[in-house]
Amino acid sequence: MRDASTPSIPGTTIVRPEAAVALAAVRAASLVCRAVRRDFDSRLAVSKDDRSPVTVADLGAQVVVSLALAEALPDDPLMGEEDAQQLRADPVIAEGLARALDAVRPGIDAATMAAALERGRDSGGPGRRWWTLDPVDGTKGFLRNEQYAVALALVEDGEPRVAVLGCPNLPTGGGTATGCLFVAERDGGAWEIALDDPTATPRRIHVDGDPDVTRARYAESVEAAHSDQDVSARIAGLLGLAGTPVRMDSQAKYAVVARGDASIYLRIPRGGYQENIWDHAAGLLVVEEAGGIVTDVDGQRLDLTTGRRMTANRGIVASPAIIWDPVIAAVREALAG
Ligand code: AMP
Ligand code: MG
Repeated sequence: MRDASTPSIPGTTIVRPEAAVALAAVRAASLVCRAVRRDFDSRLAVSKDDRSPVTVADLGAQVVVSLALAEALPDDPLMGEEDAQQLRADPVIAEGLARALDAVRPGIDAATMAAALERGRDSGGPGRRWWTLDPVDGTKGFLRNEQYAVALALVEDGEPRVAVLGCPNLPTGGGTATGCLFVAERDGGAWEIALDDPTATPRRIHVDGDPDVTRARYAESVEAAHSDQDVSARIAGLLGLAGTPVRMDSQAKYAVVARGDASIYLRIPRGGYQENIWDHAAGLLVVEEAGGIVTDVDGQRLDLTTGRRMTANRGIVASPAIIWDPVIAAVREALAG
């Protein structure tokens, strides 16, 4: 039995202690990202081998979350997106990283940072339990000072059970402040909490309840390379959607669907692209606990047990449960045509 009188996060019906650990870790990481963004120095952003960008915010957020988990839950491995390659290769990055962490981990040395970045790197797969982290999802949004997210999920038996999204640049649901945290626990609901006010009352969030799909708005990537926007436009046409898409970087898209600002999230793969698990595990649980359904473009559940890449799925479709049938039918038709 769940005991709602003893929540692990006050003001919510979330009970697992892991959720409170994850929330504190993502809050701290989000504040590190925001501080790096505020004093942004372009020398602290470099290209990875796959030519995607990485910054000291990505590395700093991963160090913060990794150390927090190692201290509270030492047996839990963490499958993070980043590793220690740039830290080892580039003294400017190493120094910038230590500086970015000074407020939360004063005097941290390179060996501790490298170990934190690489702890549990090859965890995942079926069985056991492990965490997955995208320390800065939407690094391109971070660089443009638009949306990005710190995304952390606990996966047990192949299912996300606890998830936190930190969205430092996203206006709160009430619109009075900038910066939100979203926390979800399986069967414990999805909640929004202001990033800057740990004492503020959490707000339970729900997907859009409008059963008329023609009034839905859809969200998609800013980056046309990450999702085929022509196919999304065809899907919108088939559904008779009137409005323009909400284009936003990162898993902030899952957050805006979970609180009903947008109804549908479409991610249409290009060229056989296989999604990274850390790009979806947290968003998936936040949307499901808010009353949504998340599948791939074939209507299949996401399989989180295939390692770092979700090799059993392609693309993403998320929507409120009440409109999911027409949405997935339109996705199938658009992809077939
Ligand atoms: P978004 O901000 O929604 O566009 O998603 C950002 C994420 O897209 C990054 O974290 C990458 O892991 C992922 N990504 C990189 N290349 C691609 C691609 N070709 N298709 C889909 N996602 C990609
Ligand atoms: Mg990402």
